[in-house]
Amino acid sequence: MTYQYSQRVPESDEDPVGNILKVAGSPSVISFAGGLPAPELFPIAALKKVTNEVFDQSGRQALQYSAAIGHPGLRQQIVKRMGREGVDTQIENVMITTGSQQSIDLVAKMFVNPGDTVIVEKPTYLCALDVFRSYGAHIVGVEMDENGMRMDALEKAVADNPNTKFIYTIPNFQNPTGRTMTADRREKMVEIADRADIMIMEDDPYGAIRFAGDDIEPIKFYDRNERVIYLSTFSKILAPGLRLGWIVAEKNFIKKCTLMKQSADVHSDNLTQHIVAKFMEEYDINEHINKIKKVYRQRERVMMTAIETFFPKGVNYSHPEGGLFIWVEVPGDIDTKELFDTCIKHDVAFVPGEPFYPDKVIPGTFRLNYSNMSEDQIKTGIKRLGTAIKETIGVQV
Ligand code: PMP
Repeated sequence: MTYQYSQRVPESDEDPVGNILKVAGSPSVISFAGGLPAPELFPIAALKKVTNEVFDQSGRQALQYSAAIGHPGLRQQIVKRMGREGVDTQIENVMITTGSQQSIDLVAKMFVNPGDTVIVEKPTYLCALDVFRSYGAHIVGVEMDENGMRMDALEKAVADNPNTKFIYTIPNFQNPTGRTMTADRREKMVEIADRADIMIMEDDPYGAIRFAGDDIEPIKFYDRNERVIYLSTFSKILAPGLRLGWIVAEKNFIKKCTLMKQSADVHSDNLTQHIVAKFMEEYDINEHINKIKKVYRQRERVMMTAIETFFPKGVNYSHPEGGLFIWVEVPGDIDTKELFDTCIKHDVAFVPGEPFYPDKVIPGTFRLNYSNMSEDQIKTGIKRLGTAIKETIGVQV
């Protein structure tokens, strides 16, 4: 029979990114494609220990249904973490979600009617674009430079789209570019949003993983009118399989959002919330994050040196001070999907730039991940990639 799906369901069954990850997942391929954290850094022994303690001390509670807003012990830990980041907040302003992906979905669901405008960085996180599309948003991409979203371009986008509901931004070590928005642009963004009376969705999964340069306060720090909805997650600082994230926002918004979440999944896994709360009580998560930073810093350095050695002249790339990604721009009009096919023949993979663009695609762009491969794999993989680029753009190998 023909299923009469809603407009939210994409017509096409194509999954180009899924296909890329599948090909990249072959054991012979050195893959810089996924955004996977280094699994050898997951604190397995500590999580095992606190899991046993949760079962011993509060098994009945942890296995029971619980409140959609989340486990108070975990929310309290998040209040403390946010304080460290310069955001002074209260437990009523914090809710737990099933990862930032759910947070993006819930916020979009709460604001977007079909045809409403959502302003995003160009390029941006492709799974956020999928969410916004599913709610029928008109997505407007704003140019970036090395310092994040350009504020002159944002002002124009806001002026041209009076039906804008919110700006979606990833200010720290952005996915896919690895770029970070400067403090003055963060302040300016709040000023622009205040003037136009629109919301800001600040998606910050990577901010804690700064391995170089100085910390910059979140956009939420500049928020005077409770228009910034701040999202973060345990995926990159602990483990993505836990599926736990959080939202910090105005308390009445949190109440409404909790109702929406209740309809979606009743509450996030209560046992996991107890485990992570216990982990944060007993261990210093910042010590754990420091270990992650050290390893990623080293891998990023190795990748950068290999890029400088093996990529042809004229290829541009971002210089991340944290997070998981480097963005590459090859001059000319090369189709990075074709480059991807050439790379697979050389047993190396990346994600082509195309799916990260909300509208017009800039050719020759792609994303590299450095968190998930060993230093030796990074050196070998980048050498192979350099050869494939040279072959594609016609430089003597
Ligand atoms: N936002 C961004 C920018 C991301 O890169 C990701 C995942 N890599 C997410 C949200 C979703 O993360 P989570 O695992 O918390 O759902």
